[in-house]
Amino acid sequence: MNISKIDYEIAIVGGGICGLATALALHRKGLRSVVLERAESLRATGAAIGVWTNGWRALDQLGVGPMLRQKAMLIRGSREMSVDGKTIHVIPNGKEEHRCLKRSDLIEALAHGLPPQTIRFGFRIVSVEIDQLTSFPVLNLHNGGVIRAKVVLGCDGVSSIVAKSFGLKPPRISPIIERRGLTTYPKGHGFSNEFIRITEKCLLVGIVPIDDKLVFWFIDRPRLPRDSRVSREPEVLKEAMVEEMKDFPAEITEMVKNSDLDSLSYTQIRYRAPWDLLLARFRIATMTVAGDAMHVMGPFLGQGGSAGLEDAIVLARCLAKEICLDQSSNDRNLRIRFEFGLDNYIKERKTRILMLSTTTYLVGLMLGTSSTAKMLLILAIVRIFFGNPFSHAQYDCGHL
Ligand SMILES: Cc1cc2nc3c(=O)[nH]c(=O)nc-3n(C[C@H](O)[C@H](O)[C@H](O)COP(=O)(O)OP(=O)(O)OC[C@H]3O[C@@H](n4cnc5c(N)ncnc54)[C@H](O)[C@@H]3O)c2cc1C
Repeated sequence: MNISKIDYEIAIVGGGICGLATALALHRKGLRSVVLERAESLRATGAAIGVWTNGWRALDQLGVGPMLRQKAMLIRGSREMSVDGKTIHVIPNGKEEHRCLKRSDLIEALAHGLPPQTIRFGFRIVSVEIDQLTSFPVLNLHNGGVIRAKVVLGCDGVSSIVAKSFGLKPPRISPIIERRGLTTYPKGHGFSNEFIRITEKCLLVGIVPIDDKLVFWFIDRPRLPRDSRVSREPEVLKEAMVEEMKDFPAEITEMVKNSDLDSLSYTQIRYRAPWDLLLARFRIATMTVAGDAMHVMGPFLGQGGSAGLEDAIVLARCLAKEICLDQSSNDRNLRIRFEFGLDNYIKERKTRILMLSTTTYLVGLMLGTSSTAKMLLILAIVRIFFGNPFSHAQYDCGHL
């Protein structure tokens, strides 16, 4: 491989929540980066995302918190209900901030804060390697193009090419599937500002209002053999969900029937098990991973996206600190600084990610069991080792 000029100092692979947040965090620290996104435009698959106190802290550091708060009402607690409308229990959110954001609002707010030309669409990375002569990373594109950068940050999601190049195992497949969507009520939805959960047999339905007229909902159940034969076309998805929800109250089935077709999605849940994270290596030369590429987790705590926002803040802070310390143009010194910055990022994130992934894993196990004894045992373990039910949301990733 010939030595050629570096195209970019910092290249971020993937323009999802974590990639855009990382570019914005770097920008706010005065560091230029480029986001290489395989799609032709910004994508916001998955309708909406629950964001807790920790995520709002990160969004405030990125300067987009106040604007996004205008778009999502405060959720004051969660209500567990039976299918016949009885409340089983209510958990108030107390002092925690919980709002549900439309994914498109979040993605657009992050992208809007970036300098022009930061995001490059249609750049699909197919492999990553380290230049033997310079020790800097090289990204190979689907069209045969090559991009050289001094630092590569893999924010390319659950099927990350960057993580694969480190030898990270592919994420595990959970037996749970989730369908999600948005329903607009032009005259107002009438739901209270709570996260409602209704379980009937193997079906779990979650409902969270975004504002007075828009509601986000999801439907979870174990994957069935027939799922591989069912089309993911929105009309077909909708019909199948309505059929499955025959026993649910009319207002809930109506909500799904009247959902916005282009908001519907189907996801097979994937996760990195806590023990896989414990043993994983997250840096090679000046490359690392963040967001789902590093720590994809089940949706049971609604923390995957917020954890990616925290990664962005810590990553930018650690890199900026090292760059400020070395203004020389000596590539070797700079490489050592970058490696040190990335190691500090990984050190800071590893404990948090392990705690979050373990809690999520245990909560997932608890939701999936029909045995009360097993459920109580898991609950006791979570309480003893991970503290109060909101400890995951109370984390503070600090200033940029
Ligand atoms: C069912 C479900 C519900 C969830 N609910 C919540 C919730 O309520 N709250 C919460 O905080 N989190 C939630 N999450 C998690 C959250 O959605 C993810 O953690 C978050 O979207 C991950 O963001 P990311 O940027 O790391 O990855 P992604 O959003 O997957 O973005 C990756 C980007 O990289 C691009 N890309 C991929 N490969 C390449 C390549 N080779 N070259 C160039 N570009 C590439 C993709 O096109 C994409 O734009 C949920 C997840 C699921 C599955």
